[in-house]
Amino acid sequence: MRNRRWSHRWMMDHRPVYSTMRSYRWLWSASKLGLSLSDTNEAWKAELDERVRKFEENFRNNGLLNCDIEKSVGQQLLLLQAELKQIKEENKKIVENYTAERTMRKKYYNMVEDMKGKIRVFCRIRPLTRTEQARRGHTIVTCLDDYSVILETPRGPREFQFDKIFNSECTQEEVFLESSGLIQCAIDGFNVCIFAYGHTGSGKTFTIVGDRDQRNPGIIPRTFTKIFEIIQENESKFDFKVSAYMLELYNDRLQDLFVNPAEAFSKRIEIKRDRKGLMFAQGAETKEATSASELFALFEQGCANRHIAATKMNVESSRSHLIIGVMIESSSLTNGSVSYGKLSLVDLAGSERAAKTGAKDDQLKEANSINKSLSALGDVISALSMEQPHVPYRNNKLTQLMQDSLGGNAKTLMFLNISPSDSNLDETLTSLIYATRVKAITNSAQRNIDNKEIAQLKEVILKLKSGQPVEEDV
Ligand code: ADP
Ligand code: MG
Repeated sequence: MRNRRWSHRWMMDHRPVYSTMRSYRWLWSASKLGLSLSDTNEAWKAELDERVRKFEENFRNNGLLNCDIEKSVGQQLLLLQAELKQIKEENKKIVENYTAERTMRKKYYNMVEDMKGKIRVFCRIRPLTRTEQARRGHTIVTCLDDYSVILETPRGPREFQFDKIFNSECTQEEVFLESSGLIQCAIDGFNVCIFAYGHTGSGKTFTIVGDRDQRNPGIIPRTFTKIFEIIQENESKFDFKVSAYMLELYNDRLQDLFVNPAEAFSKRIEIKRDRKGLMFAQGAETKEATSASELFALFEQGCANRHIAATKMNVESSRSHLIIGVMIESSSLTNGSVSYGKLSLVDLAGSERAAKTGAKDDQLKEANSINKSLSALGDVISALSMEQPHVPYRNNKLTQLMQDSLGGNAKTLMFLNISPSDSNLDETLTSLIYATRVKAITNSAQRNIDNKEIAQLKEVILKLKSGQPVEEDV
């Protein structure tokens, strides 16, 4: 059985040889039938020739067939490769379009939110410091696009969205450019507040003030320059008056930075609210400035009076909140209307918990009062974001002072400063969650503008209050 199967296979594989064997058999039968050897020879030769011809033809055909198959398979492969390339290109375009659309959608969404009066939140990621690099700290924060940031947490990545993300390579100039529109708003008579929030060492002072030697000036000095640039451009249409106050909230005490510390200690500053809901610090020294350099000199003088102490987290960490208010009064030379804009620039103290900073005694007291004011700020933010009827502004001086900027008559921009380092994971996560709540707050900013008559009457009242003579025809 096995032999038969083997022989059949052998016959199939060697069909031409087998045919030749059949020819021998036929030859043998022919001789048995009495045919001569030459006849048989001829017949055998013819049969053999025929077999060889068929074998060659068969081989040629099969060979050609294989060639055709190879050719067509090759062609199909080329076609498929071209199709794949095209699909890949289309796919790339779709991804690009999707990313562009997504970015646009976020941008327009943010614009609508801005028009609705929502507080704007910009998130800035500072670079790893040299100490963090030396400690082999690694980055746990990445920017997905201009509006989304991802934080790697032990429970997996978490995405947060803000009105703008500035990565660690963004310059002070780029950061300022995005915020400078608000300066025009203040000159137009709006109440504007820009404040920085984040833990100690996250880059708040760098963003708001700049570095120590002012090689990289921050928002404050750039704002001063911009204010006077705008004033210069509009001098033929408006009369401008710029004045400022500068305060420090330290250990629950408001201190006037425009007077020397000894004098400031005995001075009482009260936070009041005017008819339009604007907050002002009663009793604080207000100084006029006629140029950017004059305003900056006032600011530097104020900085020299600040309380600064070293903590573990940042050698030069500021342990107090800094508030500078720049008032811009502009009177129209054409119709006499007067607008009053106020620009508050706030550098908050670090938001970290006292335990991590290694603060002791006096510093612990500072840390506690900082925590108290920031937790009061947190309560205000959560009441506003949940649209609760009662907002606990009065619980702390910081929240009282920022009342018009949070949920009030102001255009507000918050800088959320974060560190990219894995060693700051807890603080960064807390800050990101905090800032997400701030984003939900809606303000209702209105221009503070009086027509000519009201502006004149206000001037009369002021003069009367201070005992100055008033002209009859006013
Ligand atoms: P904070 O005011 O939040 O405590 P700082 O602004 O003092 O933090 O920043 C801490 C350190 O990091 C400083 O040495 C500062 O110069 C540096 N730094 C912060 N942000 C940046 C940045 N965007 N680019 C370069 N250095 C930065
Ligand atoms: Mg600081």
